[in-house]
Amino acid sequence: MSRIDLHLHTTYSDGSLPPTEVLGLAQKAGVSALAITDHDIVDGIPEAIEAGAHLGIEVIPGIEISSRYGESELHMLGYFLDWQDSELSSRLAELRASRHRRNPRIIEKLNELGLDLTYEEVKALVGTGSIGRPHIARVLMAKGYVRSAKEAFDRYLAEGAAAYVPRDLPEPAEAIAWIRTARGIPVLAHPTWVKESAEGLFALCDKLKAEGLGGIEVHYSTHKPQQTSQFLEIARRLDLLVTGGSDFHGLTKPDIEVGVGRGNLKVPEKLLEPLKKAARTVH
Ligand code: AMP
Ligand code: ZN
Ligand code: FE
Ligand code: FE
Repeated sequence: MSRIDLHLHTTYSDGSLPPTEVLGLAQKAGVSALAITDHDIVDGIPEAIEAGAHLGIEVIPGIEISSRYGESELHMLGYFLDWQDSELSSRLAELRASRHRRNPRIIEKLNELGLDLTYEEVKALVGTGSIGRPHIARVLMAKGYVRSAKEAFDRYLAEGAAAYVPRDLPEPAEAIAWIRTARGIPVLAHPTWVKESAEGLFALCDKLKAEGLGGIEVHYSTHKPQQTSQFLEIARRLDLLVTGGSDFHGLTKPDIEVGVGRGNLKVPEKLLEPLKKAARTVH
């Protein structure tokens, strides 16, 4: 039984490898199908589809959209989207514009703290893609201010850290609605980000399902077996689809590999058919 990986980032957002190289790693890892889920951008999908056609890997069009959840964030994955949908495109363009409003303010704060870097240096890493804090982290690493992306986040970029600047984020219901508009299936990413009790997470998923949520990311690189079981149980009780992926970013998260996460991730291929069936009913 082969494995799949439904959560991957590329250079079109804050991953460090282009889609073609991510597909190459997927082939080496024995991945039969994958989804490219860049933050707020779908522009890497055609390159991935083309590479997938050469390598015999099925490529599912995907997205990851951050949404506001109190002081924290919920990330919404979307699968089998009509990625050329014009309403989705304009929503994503607005999200990227909100990044461009925030990023220079982060740089200003870093400059005030005595660190020497410019937004131009950050943009040079990304080209026309979706720019995020991990790119700023990479410039800080390259200049020797921090040793790792984790250190950059802990000291400067994470919520509550010295150079943190919030960004305009949609409500979870809006992110879900935008994915539905493009006939995609919305899935709650890495549910461990929800700092709630087990009952609290269940209640949240119940509410999100009423707003259009279709699934939950049960299998994930950093999930402990007990968490995987907890999320499976939520999916079963709420009749949500089960998905999974590595959240590969390349250098930004150097301990995570395509297809296998930290070594023991295995997202079963059999999860794909129910997801496809759900997508067929809305197309
Ligand atoms: P942004 O999209 O600019 O808000 O940046 C958030 C992204 O940064 C997340 O989606 C992760 O990919 C990444 N990230 C968040 N926290 C960390 C961390 N502690 N270390 C490395 N990357 C992180
Ligand atoms: Zn990311
Ligand atoms: Fe995420
Ligand atoms: Fe992600």
